[in-house]
Amino acid sequence: MTETIHDLIGVGFGPSNLALAIALHERQSPVDALFLEARPGFAWHPGMMIPGADMQVSFLKDLVTLHNPASGFSFLSYLHERGRLERFVNRKSFFPSRVEFNDYLGWAAAKLGTICAYDQRVTAIEPVERQGQITLLRIRAEDECGCVTTRLARQIVLAPGGAPHWPAPFADHQGVPGLSHSSDFTHAVLPRVRPGQSVAVIGGGQSASEIFAALAAHPAGLSVDLILRGHALKPADDSPFVNEIFDIAHTDLLFGMPPRQQQAFRQDFAATNYAVTDTDLLQQIHGLLYEQSVIGEERLALRRDTAVAGLRPGPAGLALTLKTPQGRQDRHYDHVILCTGYRREAETLGLTGIASWIQCGQPDRQYRLPMRPGFLPAIHVQGYSEQTHGLSDTLLSVLAVRAQEIAASVEAAHRGQLLAAE
Ligand SMILES: Cc1cc2nc3c(=O)[nH]c(=O)nc-3n(C[C@H](O)[C@H](O)[C@H](O)COP(=O)(O)OP(=O)(O)OC[C@H]3O[C@@H](n4cnc5c(N)ncnc54)[C@H](O)[C@@H]3O)c2cc1C
Repeated sequence: MTETIHDLIGVGFGPSNLALAIALHERQSPVDALFLEARPGFAWHPGMMIPGADMQVSFLKDLVTLHNPASGFSFLSYLHERGRLERFVNRKSFFPSRVEFNDYLGWAAAKLGTICAYDQRVTAIEPVERQGQITLLRIRAEDECGCVTTRLARQIVLAPGGAPHWPAPFADHQGVPGLSHSSDFTHAVLPRVRPGQSVAVIGGGQSASEIFAALAAHPAGLSVDLILRGHALKPADDSPFVNEIFDIAHTDLLFGMPPRQQQAFRQDFAATNYAVTDTDLLQQIHGLLYEQSVIGEERLALRRDTAVAGLRPGPAGLALTLKTPQGRQDRHYDHVILCTGYRREAETLGLTGIASWIQCGQPDRQYRLPMRPGFLPAIHVQGYSEQTHGLSDTLLSVLAVRAQEIAASVEAAHRGQLLAAE
């Protein structure tokens, strides 16, 4: 069967590649692009659609506004089209609910029509050699039934997001009933909890706090332990001067720093995003625990300074060995939920087939990977340059502008390929 050749194939169709697809569309780009998405339809973190959870960035940091406030793909255009613009204004908040922002993203994806093929999990990216040069990439994708489709691309943009992190001692127990990652919370845990069951939530960041609060309020009257290694749940710093690190200009600032300074800068501002919780949610959780102490209940617990040293599945549920400054103890739970974050490592990118062509070093300022001579396809990455481009790289803040930068770089590579082919 002949394989279709695309100028560009995008791997993953979350907000990053969705913003790129819009940028190419609005630029009336000559680049013929197709995006491949593993999920059966558009969905943004579907396992964390916790009712009542709000966005952590302003709606003005949508897919387009920071580049072009007049775009028809803005959050405001979405509200207008949905007939909710005035009601949203009356809400007096910059922060839509996560459910509404997901609906906005899905609306924008649908407006683009068939630019994305869903139920296409990319499983391999291989080089295609012609006369000693790599001229194309072969992209293998599998659907849910295991049917494989291969396509050829002159360029790719990789934006697969992070992979759920399963640290020790949990990594060897993936698939064990009752054990799950926060990324599956709303579809794998919520429908399965039964009255009076016990749940351990592991982690000290935003996801752990959101899940703890949701389970605490669940009508099933669950016993919920929030187990964290640290001594306290800490607040996310979103104060105005600190928040400037997510401004567009900071990408250039970070990129211009020597590696050691970049690292120090990231560490200095880690409390904007890592192992921290929004202050209003912290107060809500504190209030829940306080109220419980007033009525003399012990259904909810914050187990601080506690590390999980072992896990044993058994007939009485999941036994966790907890290590505290006072010693070790075993506790049994019906459900254990890991809120241990995501990993963004080179392996997640699926580039093993072309690894030998990648030169040492980081993506350039335009997010393009450095490749050895003789490798013609351009490879851009989104969400994999936090080290060099700053903490906004894995978030939504710079999405609209980064998409334009990558679109321009893709078009420049495309022109170069056309010239080389003449
Ligand atoms: C619960 C939660 C809430 C968040 N809230 C905020 C927020 O309020 N503000 C903020 O700035 N950031 C937030 N973030 C950070 C988040 O990373 C970004 O919001 C955003 O999702 C990044 O977009 P992305 O497209 O790079 O990655 P993702 O959204 O992860 O999308 C990647 C897509 O690639 C697909 N994919 C992966 N592998 C393959 C493959 N092999 N083949 C085909 N498709 C593949 C996935 O199915 C997914 O659809 C949140 C993160 C989480 C987990």
